[in-house]
Amino acid sequence: MSNSSDVIITPGMQAYIDRNSSYLKEREQYIANEVKKWKFDTIAVHGLYSVQDAINDYQGAIIEPIFMSSSQAYRDSDEMAAALAYKIPTWCYSRIANPSTYYYEWTLALLEGYGFDGETSCCSTSSGMAAIFTAVQPFLKVIDSSTEPCNFVATAQCYGGTFQQFTVRLMQERNIECRWVVNANDIDEWASKIDKNTRFLYGELPSNPQLSFFDIKEVADLAHSHQLPLICDSTIATPALLRPICHGADIVVQSVTKSLTSSGFGICGAVVSRKNLVSAIVEEGLKEDFALNVKLLQNRDFGPNLHPLQAVMSLNDMRTIRSKMDLMSRNTMKVATHLQHHPKVESVQYLGLPNHPQHELASRYMWLVDADHDELYNQPVNRYGHLMSFCVKGGATKTRTFFDKLQRIWRATDLGRIKSVATIPAISTHQQQGESARALAGIPPNMVRLCVGAEHPDDVIADLEQALEKI
Ligand SMILES: *Cc1c(COP(=O)(O)O)cnc(C)c1O
Repeated sequence: MSNSSDVIITPGMQAYIDRNSSYLKEREQYIANEVKKWKFDTIAVHGLYSVQDAINDYQGAIIEPIFMSSSQAYRDSDEMAAALAYKIPTWCYSRIANPSTYYYEWTLALLEGYGFDGETSCCSTSSGMAAIFTAVQPFLKVIDSSTEPCNFVATAQCYGGTFQQFTVRLMQERNIECRWVVNANDIDEWASKIDKNTRFLYGELPSNPQLSFFDIKEVADLAHSHQLPLICDSTIATPALLRPICHGADIVVQSVTKSLTSSGFGICGAVVSRKNLVSAIVEEGLKEDFALNVKLLQNRDFGPNLHPLQAVMSLNDMRTIRSKMDLMSRNTMKVATHLQHHPKVESVQYLGLPNHPQHELASRYMWLVDADHDELYNQPVNRYGHLMSFCVKGGATKTRTFFDKLQRIWRATDLGRIKSVATIPAISTHQQQGESARALAGIPPNMVRLCVGAEHPDDVIADLEQALEKI
């Protein structure tokens, strides 16, 4: 990739380029011949950080070092010029890149690309919202200011922050039209919203908090038939349960803050893309390697970079993501099944329950990765994540009373934690958007969103029971 088209390569710069090209070739071979052959857990534990890297460059440190340094120094002006022109692998300045975030990016690129017959890359971001911003911006550029405004098509059932970014920041402030799909299972509704000014399709699945789901392959095929990319927010599933790129999506955004960093140490995000994505309007470099391109150019100029300390803390959480998602999904299944029969509960929404309208569709897509290589299972098993919701009988006031009586379950606008956390979306995550938008997104005032952690599920049930008893 080139930073600028008019760089003159001096013989000194060329020597650095030659020296580094053998390193890049070695890395490519290492990925193709070794890493791509590993199982998911091995990639999650090691990523690209190898014994070789550690011994050669990091004094043998077995954990990825945290490079708390603003910038990188160079041997001489030739190396600096080659680096700043992006002609050699470099990290320059921590707004652009950093060795700690490099390992975070590779782990996520490899996990989202697990089982995908092609290459993936990743751009780390300071948050999930920054990941969404990073992913959509390149497609919204003005091509011809005399034509009508551009638009994109997105699932109405989505995270409250996403709703705000799309309606307030893009629609109201920039005149970029977001066309909401109300029933994401209706492919004709998606199709009816696409026209010549559409730039991309965007879908969150399972959605937070309604757990709506759509047929990724069908929507990706529709997008591609119009030369549009499909962007998926796959935060709730994590790559341990679902990898949209394997089913045709072009770009995945992750709020790594959530289940991927279940410890809750901080905020972080990622954009993962497949190489050579579909788009009729962006330049070749972006299509070829979207994530690397936005990282080195767009985000260099906007600056939503991830802190290296957070990158390594998140890496540490991701090493066990498969077994954690398995355990927490099973715990959630137990809690959901229990609440379903509770006299004070109006309804329970969980993709794992056979009566959920999207259970069958989700069951086609959500599998615990490598369960067929796990000696406990020895066969594919469905897992549905640890987010569920339920509606309390008797309306908003009783719902708040129940909520206030919870003792072990934390009241917080958070999810994806190793600890169980609950919230009332109508007064928290989805408060800003108002009554009518909540109705559009399907969020009643008596809905409680519960994300079940890794506690023993009987203790989570006991806490819910005692709080329900008080209403
Ligand atoms: C939390 C969340 C986001 C935003 O991520 P942050 O890391 O909080 O910025 C985006 N999408 C979904 C589905 C989320 O749950």
